[in-house]
Amino acid sequence: MGLIDEPLRMNPWEPVQITTNTQTPRMPRNVENHSANILLTQVSKLVDWGRSQSLWPALFGLACCAIEMMAASASRFDIARFGAEVFRASPRQADLMIVAGRVSVKMAPVVRQIYDQMPDPKWVISMGACASCGGVFNNYAIVQGVDKIIPVDIFVPGCPPTPEMLLYGFNQLQEKIRQGLPNPPDPMRPTA
Ligand code: SF4
Repeated sequence: MGLIDEPLRMNPWEPVQITTNTQTPRMPRNVENHSANILLTQVSKLVDWGRSQSLWPALFGLACCAIEMMAASASRFDIARFGAEVFRASPRQADLMIVAGRVSVKMAPVVRQIYDQMPDPKWVISMGACASCGGVFNNYAIVQGVDKIIPVDIFVPGCPPTPEMLLYGFNQLQEKIRQGLPNPPDPMRPTA
């Protein structure tokens, strides 16, 4: 009996192709797709994971905290390990704003404009006491918390925060993105 006479014969390699003693069993090819929603959920998780691992910060600093932010991107602390080494000089190419330093009242409209020029989705880290609440500068010249002009996702305390603290805050933001948590409300666009 030749091969031409055996069209209906079972594939002798099928048991090996489905499962081997070195691999976990694969799903049979004819398994039913029970729910397309599960697939969509997984795609959204994949997208969130990709976003969390490829954040591009806007390239600007406001005061002494920016020195620590620069250190976080240098070789010793190396923010590139988390996929965020690409500081972008154009806000249109950035999706993360690290507010590093005190925000003067004169500078506030500029910070807000940079934020507005960043494409969605975007996130904000407030780095240090000055950016978060005015710090020691409790006076009329400094915005008493940058969350009064832009929505802040993560606050990093300290004066100045160390690069490790910034990296920890950055990791917290990555986890937030992976969980699909929304941005806080925009203080300049109050909801009705
Ligand atoms: S928190 Fe401290 S280090 Fe950071 S900008 Fe303010 S004074 Fe400078």
